[in-house]
Amino acid sequence: MSYAMRILDDSKKKNPNEPEFHQAMTEIIPSLTPFLDEHPKYEKAGILERMIEPERQVMFRVPWVDDSGKVRINRGYRVQFSSAIGPYKGGLRFHPSVNLSIIKFLAFEQIFKNSLTGLPIGGGKGGSDFDSKGKSDREVMAFCQSFIDELYRHIGADQDIPAGDIGVGGREVGFMYGQYKRLTGQYEGAFTGKSLTYGGSLVRTEATGYGLVYMMENMLAAKNTTFEDKTVVISGSGNVAIYAAEKAVKLGAKVVTMSDSNGYIYDGDGIDLDAVKQIKEVQRGRISEYLKVKKTAEYVENGLVWSVPCNIALPCATQNELLKNGAELLVKNGCMAVAEGSNMSTDLEATHYLQDNGVFFAPGKAANAGGVAVSALEMAQNSSRMSWAFEEVDCRLRSIMHDIYTECSMAAERYGMKGNLVAGANIAGFRKVAEAMLQQGVV
Ligand code: NDP
Repeated sequence: MSYAMRILDDSKKKNPNEPEFHQAMTEIIPSLTPFLDEHPKYEKAGILERMIEPERQVMFRVPWVDDSGKVRINRGYRVQFSSAIGPYKGGLRFHPSVNLSIIKFLAFEQIFKNSLTGLPIGGGKGGSDFDSKGKSDREVMAFCQSFIDELYRHIGADQDIPAGDIGVGGREVGFMYGQYKRLTGQYEGAFTGKSLTYGGSLVRTEATGYGLVYMMENMLAAKNTTFEDKTVVISGSGNVAIYAAEKAVKLGAKVVTMSDSNGYIYDGDGIDLDAVKQIKEVQRGRISEYLKVKKTAEYVENGLVWSVPCNIALPCATQNELLKNGAELLVKNGCMAVAEGSNMSTDLEATHYLQDNGVFFAPGKAANAGGVAVSALEMAQNSSRMSWAFEEVDCRLRSIMHDIYTECSMAAERYGMKGNLVAGANIAGFRKVAEAMLQQGVV
């Protein structure tokens, strides 16, 4: 058995009951085999077994009081996976499904993603099983403050810099940053995704969605085509989905679907994004409310968005949202390319099905890296007490996504897997972290 497969097997045994973490390791580790075989120095230094063990993980109680005076308890997490190339960096997810396995998978992926950006950021992730749906602003604030009452001692501008993810947007980051500042007395860039009024960066809100579309732009260019006149299917209707749709439309595409956890909308005229922003960003409502604005659109409850014919599919909701049945529908309807906006949108079976059927596929760790890349640019602006213009940040983002695409393509080709961006992203992301670890000794 190869070094990579042996370590994968051992880690699965050592971490039972963590299916999402197993899945993330299984998607990454085997594809490193040709690289590890070529460079035995990494096995000698135990790099892989060190890389799959988080440097630190904290779990904590988060008590808070709801509007009726009832005491509520949630569980908080922060997994600080790797600081080999920079301080821990990765978002916080607030969703009832959150558990240690999900946070570990996200933090593990984040190591590779952050490495691919070419910026000095390590990998981490955190969150809670808190559900903000239906909560008042005061309840969300009470939860966020209690969450930070514990987390503040583990984070800092040069230590660990959280940001948003599912269920964590500008409102939550604001409440958490306020409490962090109160407890530490430090006005520093300990969070990204901040509002522009207190140190946020232009383009951070748009970054993951725009970056995803820039990645796809590179993929389409490799196939001698563009977004012009393409039909795009998008899942989700949160931060990533909305700004992916916005940029795809700007580049000439028609986006015909968006969804939430209850169902999807189909608008053959092209989704009215202002209406979606109003429903999701302002009213915090359900995507079905789109029908009140656009009577000719359709709403399909619990439907599979991948059944809608398209040229390009961008999953932007959550992990394992595009499985083999969805992949089969996309192939049947002639979809040419898929890029993951959500982390681990597909499982391995679906990924292989898409690749085997000629669908050009980009994994989340490359395709959605634009968010964390602009977060790193926010950190740079905070350290220098400067703020850059929208065009400057957007231009850097576009160039970073181009570089990521190129690096993944070249790594895949170098190891005999031309066009396999999954293997390319894993090898390119691993290479830099492994080398940094080797040079820093056994720590
Ligand atoms: P948001 O909370 O803004 O939006 C999430 C969207 O996905 C909502 O429409 C939500 O619907 C839907 N969704 C969430 N969970 C489920 C589920 N279990 N089943 C079906 N639909 C679901 O999150 P983001 O847009 O920020 O994040 C989306 C994805 O992108 C995540 O995988 C995240 O890890 C990834 N990502 C985000 C980055 C960022 O900068 N925000 C950066 C890189 C990756 P509902 O409202 O019904 O829950």
